[in-house]
This record gives sequence, structure tokens and C-alpha cells, in this order.
Amino acid sequence: MTDADRKTEAIKKLELMLNDSEGFLPICSVKECGKIKVSLDGEDVWISRSDNSSLYDRVIKHYINSPDLTKGGLTHTVCPEDGRRLYPEFWRD
Ligand SMILES: [Zn+2]
Repeated sequence: MTDADRKTEAIKKLELMLNDSEGFLPICSVKECGKIKVSLDGEDVWISRSDNSSLYDRVIKHYINSPDLTKGGLTHTVCPEDGRRLYPEFWRD
């Protein structure tokens, strides 16, 4: 699968995740980044708002409004790009 195919698959999966009422969505906490992580067959695919802004906004809204925040919501992390850039001495790939 190419990176573009993986991104297309991840976007499809995000659309399905809008039906989930539980679960956590990892989001990069670097302000100007905000990429979200989708696991695809054990592999991480990072989706940015520019990949699909309307879906991105819907997904964020969905997870922010999770009915039970002990069972679902946004969870903050750092994407590999920002990890390598901001914490080169600590980052492990
Ligand atoms: Zn990031």
C-alpha cells in the first residue's frame, strides 16, 4: 500500500469511527499541528486537517462531546514529526 492509499483507508476508518460512542482518539498536542492518529492494521497513520477538513472537524467534535469521558474522548500525544523535531534527545522511533 502506498502512503496515499493508507491515508485514504485511514479517512474511511475515521468516517466509521463517527459511529462509535466509546474509544479514544490520539491528537498531536502541538498547536499548529493537531494531526490525529488512526491505527490501520497495527500501523499508525497520521491525518491532518488539510487532508479532509470537514471530516476532521466532525471527528474532533464527536470525540470532544463523548458522553462518558472515562470511556472516550481526545487523548493528547505528539506525532513522530514533532517528536523528532522538538525532543530529538528523547525521541525513539
Ligand atoms: Zn504533530
